[in-house]
Amino acid sequence: MCGIAGIFKKENASFGVAEALFAEQHRGQDSAGIVSWDKEGLHSHFGLGLVKDTFSQEKLKSLPGSMAIGHVRYPTQGPVSLCNCQPHIFSMDGKPIFALASNGDITNLPELIEEIEKEGFALEGDNDAEVMAKFVGMVAFRRNKGLVEAMYLLMEKALGAFSAVLMTDEELYAFRDPWAFRPMCYGDKDGVAAIASESVALDILRIPYKGEIPAGSIFRWGPDGSMTYPRRVEKPARHCIFEHIYFSRPDSVIFGEKVFEVRRKIGEALASGDDVKADHVIAVPDSSNYIALGYANRSGIPFALGLVRNHYVGRTFIAPDQITRDEGVRFKFNPLPGFIAGKKLVIVDDSIVRGTTIKKLIRMLRENGALEVHLRIGSPPIRYSCYYGVDTPNREKLIASKMEIEDIRAFIGADTLKYLTIEDLRGTVSNPDDYCYACFRGDYPAGEKKHPSLVS
Ligand code: 5GP
Ligand code: MG
Repeated sequence: MCGIAGIFKKENASFGVAEALFAEQHRGQDSAGIVSWDKEGLHSHFGLGLVKDTFSQEKLKSLPGSMAIGHVRYPTQGPVSLCNCQPHIFSMDGKPIFALASNGDITNLPELIEEIEKEGFALEGDNDAEVMAKFVGMVAFRRNKGLVEAMYLLMEKALGAFSAVLMTDEELYAFRDPWAFRPMCYGDKDGVAAIASESVALDILRIPYKGEIPAGSIFRWGPDGSMTYPRRVEKPARHCIFEHIYFSRPDSVIFGEKVFEVRRKIGEALASGDDVKADHVIAVPDSSNYIALGYANRSGIPFALGLVRNHYVGRTFIAPDQITRDEGVRFKFNPLPGFIAGKKLVIVDDSIVRGTTIKKLIRMLRENGALEVHLRIGSPPIRYSCYYGVDTPNREKLIASKMEIEDIRAFIGADTLKYLTIEDLRGTVSNPDDYCYACFRGDYPAGEKKHPSLVS
């Protein structure tokens, strides 16, 4: 998963892009990059780690201009390295032509790589934005089709997820795969346009949200005004349902829905028909807070902030190896003193991936004297890898792909365990048929990925 942002026609655009990326930091913490353009040329800066550490005031001042795009990266398997940072800069004869940043994951990258290598382009790094940039550059400038046709051809040939921004010396583009797997929205005010993965980024820029970039279409802002190019490749919408369950911020509007409302409905659906008796409902903060609130409202069991999260630990899931991840759970969560002892608890989490987090947490609750621990999960069992940009590991590591629910319950040490059903999940959004459920069902709308992951 990753986050993208772009700003057109705003003084010191790089400062605004940094603010937008800061609002999207949860979408990727491994590296950050910003490219700006002014009359002197292109300026760029990349760094490993968080936005606030990579972009000081000084660094942002070295990125002048009224146009900038940026990216926060969260690779799944590709190495975290500076040459994999985005935006990727496409140059010809040593001269930068455009920069491109993308959120997503393309399943047929080898075919695209073959095509660009045949025409003499070599890859330097290990990420699909570079492949996209070289493909677009090749079609636009080697085959002389122009940028818009090149983006359309990419949308015809590339399978999978990409929500991308592209910036030339005077234009800003946004384009999105025809399934619209990953979110991407835009807003404008007084001639200033902004593009972001999530609407929260527009909120902090104080640029009113206008809507999503429609599936398969291209938006362009240039010196002569703005243009939209309608979709040519028809595919059914397949938004990632996991954006609602876990990934997006609750204060974002994603795929036309308020994320916190979807989460509340997930919690209500989990509580409907659940007759468990407990003293409190507690969340695994922060990702399941709204799901737990929905559960508490519907069940009548009082909500409590029983676990406190240390916000200075990165998401445990992201830690590169198992040992760090296990330790991370203790560093990240701690119960209120004396609160857990003697209580029957419903604990709500948004999802179980490997089962690591929740197993440790339940052990912690028991060590603190919990009488009963009933686990409720705000998603159906994750049984299949995601090939469209979420960091679900190989199938063998997904606990629900190898164990029955009763075995999972025993393994993680809960008294009872209930997952949300796919039917109930569908009931929480207005257009349930427009979503991808491949991580629960294995029906991949844009194919499976056979090559190693190169995630943007
Ligand atoms: P597990 O410990 O089972 O492997 O991971 C489950 C926990 O990771 C849950 O608390 C959930 O909030 C979080 N999680 C689920 N999916 C993702 C993801 O794609 N990325 C990250 N960083 N965390 C995730
Ligand atoms: Mg969580």
